[in-house]
Amino acid sequence: MADVYVFLGPPGAGKGTLGDVFCEKTGVVHISTGQLLRDEMAAGTELGAQVKGIIAAGGLVSDEIVAKMVANRLQKEDIKAHGCLLDGFPRTVPQAGMLEKILADGGDRMAAVVLIEADREMLMGRLTSRRVCSNKACGATFNVLTLPPKVEGICDKCGQPLIQRSDGSEETAKKRLAVYESETAPLVDFYDKKGQLVRTVSTNTTIEENYARLMKVIGR
Ligand SMILES: [Zn+2]
Repeated sequence: MADVYVFLGPPGAGKGTLGDVFCEKTGVVHISTGQLLRDEMAAGTELGAQVKGIIAAGGLVSDEIVAKMVANRLQKEDIKAHGCLLDGFPRTVPQAGMLEKILADGGDRMAAVVLIEADREMLMGRLTSRRVCSNKACGATFNVLTLPPKVEGICDKCGQPLIQRSDGSEETAKKRLAVYESETAPLVDFYDKKGQLVRTVSTNTTIEENYARLMKVIGR
């Protein structure tokens, strides 16, 4: 029986980093659906060929196909032994229903669905903190929170002004958070009602502190 974990959280909360540290320290296997798709195509399986065709035609890979790939992957030895963190699936309530069936069929269990919550101000700060040099030939990147330039708004390398790309603008950040809210809220509800949801908070402290809080709610 494999223990399966799912992390939910808004963009900017550090879900990816926490997931990486979690897998590294516990030996739980990280499974991203994007990687599963690429592996399946590279292995030239029947499913992989199907996916290749869909992508080449500009289509979207269906929930059923993703579910099938996840089901196949969960049967592998490494996951039975160490468990896994599922990344990218489920994103919707119908997908969560599919996952339930996969776990039941495979004799696996949902160990925890972790909701990583974070202060909105912190998220906005993180999502809008990147700056790039306006001089395309230079292309240096900075981060006003973690890697600030020596002089505000000026590139350290070439002295040209720094700009914020549109994907790091306040407007885009707000949109990303709104999309997250509307997509994830039903999923949070779904797992909450089943008693599988645990909550932790991500703050602007060290990764060690955030990790310690995560492990406490998971009970590992
Ligand atoms: Zn520059």
